[in-house]
Amino acid sequence: MTLPGVTGTPRALYRFVLGYEPIRESVSIEGGDPARFLLEPVTAAAVCYDDAWVLLDSGFDTDAVRDPARRAARYNYDSYTALLPPGDPLVDQVRAAGLDWRRLSGCALSHLHLDHTGGLRLLEGGPPVLVQRAEWEFATTEADARHVYARDDYLRPGLDVRLLDGETELAPGLSTLDTRGRTPGHQSFRIGLAGRTVVLACDAADLRANITGPRACGWATDPVAARVAIRRLHELDRQPATEVWPGHDPDWWAWQEPGLYPAR
Ligand SMILES: [Zn+2]
Repeated sequence: MTLPGVTGTPRALYRFVLGYEPIRESVSIEGGDPARFLLEPVTAAAVCYDDAWVLLDSGFDTDAVRDPARRAARYNYDSYTALLPPGDPLVDQVRAAGLDWRRLSGCALSHLHLDHTGGLRLLEGGPPVLVQRAEWEFATTEADARHVYARDDYLRPGLDVRLLDGETELAPGLSTLDTRGRTPGHQSFRIGLAGRTVVLACDAADLRANITGPRACGWATDPVAARVAIRRLHELDRQPATEVWPGHDPDWWAWQEPGLYPAR
């Protein structure tokens, strides 16, 4: 077990929608139209236990999005931009979920694209941040803005980054799946809830159509590995009582609005 102090089983997921981004269809799915843009939600989730919770992904750095110079350097290029609701969506949605930051046991990141790492600014001096070693090595050596990585987000002093080597049980009922390909160390998350399993594909499948196809995302550091990952997610989705949720699908029910799952 990687995260100490988490006991019991996952009671629920809390779904966070932390912003939006315009993405070419051809980026999200092989064979997609490069002239068609999808306004994709930036998603994250809390896995809620009786006395603790675990954050999965963390959205944009709202401070950087709202600073014109940092925004220009990071987000505004070739038709890409970052769209935020008012306020601080992660802070506000954690509060709305009734979650207490002092009970946060850790934050696991699917990968280190800048629409997933921004909330790390809230975790300096905080609990462990869990990333695959392959992702960390790419993110700290080769990756830069061309790859949509923002090193300022994850090279913060005071972050307790712990590196994972492959599939790992993070806490009871919460484990990682190796879905490398979109990025060198991409991981998805499997959450065992009562009577059902939810797999958060994260960016191994932007869209539900990636999973049902199966068709990989159209932009990947390793397209062959990305196809292996999407076939696995496709097979998991066919298992009984198992749901595979896409990471960025504007039409997927879970990302229509933030909320608890299952609803009370
Ligand atoms: Zn993403």
